[in-house]
Amino acid sequence: MPDIINGHGPKIIAITNQKGGVGKTTTTINLGAALAETGSRVLLIDLDPQGNASTGLGIEVADRKLTTYDLLLEEAPLTDVLQETDIENLLIAPATTDLSSADIELVSNEKRSHLLHDALRATGLAQLGLDYILIDCPPSLNLLTVNALVAADSVLIPLQSEFFALEGLSQLMLTIREVRQTANADLRIEGIVLTMFDTRNNLSRQVEADARDNLGELVFNTMIPRNVRVSEAPSYALPVLMYDPTSKGSQAYRALASELSIRNGRG
Ligand code: ADP
Ligand code: MG
Repeated sequence: MPDIINGHGPKIIAITNQKGGVGKTTTTINLGAALAETGSRVLLIDLDPQGNASTGLGIEVADRKLTTYDLLLEEAPLTDVLQETDIENLLIAPATTDLSSADIELVSNEKRSHLLHDALRATGLAQLGLDYILIDCPPSLNLLTVNALVAADSVLIPLQSEFFALEGLSQLMLTIREVRQTANADLRIEGIVLTMFDTRNNLSRQVEADARDNLGELVFNTMIPRNVRVSEAPSYALPVLMYDPTSKGSQAYRALASELSIRNGRG
């Protein structure tokens, strides 16, 4: 793990896939909640202008005074941008639609790819005592996503268990390689997690077999099942772990958190 803050900084994970609707935000919220439940201190960074992670955790738009837009483009310190959520040990740096113009505004900025990296390494963050920072990326390989990849220690890729799931991966892998060559040589792939998995569906099984054949150990053992409780939870502004703690979805995200912690020697 790269040295972040005196070697004891949080592990920074970008949750990325340029396809929309594959479970990035759901995974960010619920993996975050599952890690927080075990006592880790977790910060979610909402880097999607749609702000679904912020909404899904009950942060009203009116309460998003300072956002990740201010963090990237107005030099607002992270300590001013982040907010507590109703969940113990879970913090969020929220986003609003303001962020949709950032991609264009960043183009003329000399440090355009490093703004999040620098913001996450500013002084004063060590006292937050964070163990993990999870970055919810937009459904695009734009400059916002590049900021996440440059800032991160690793990338976690949710893969929807559907036909064509693997198709977009090569483009994402190329982007990761490019970021490694230019800005973040240590960027690792944390793993690929199959989402919306349906055990009764042959197609899901086929996607799993293809993913494990092609990507081997990069694929987490844990798979996230398609579970209606997972999709209901955001409308109650809660992670599924709080909305229905014993649901299949909650169990799966706890298992993912455990697998991730063990892989990182933090179990
Ligand atoms: P992304 O952030 O990649 O666009 P989301 O996390 O927003 O994707 O998920 C897309 C949709 O699928 C949302 O409506 C979400 O509630 C639903 N969803 C995600 N994961 C599951 C799941 N395991 N079971 C059922 N629905 C899910
Ligand atoms: Mg999303």
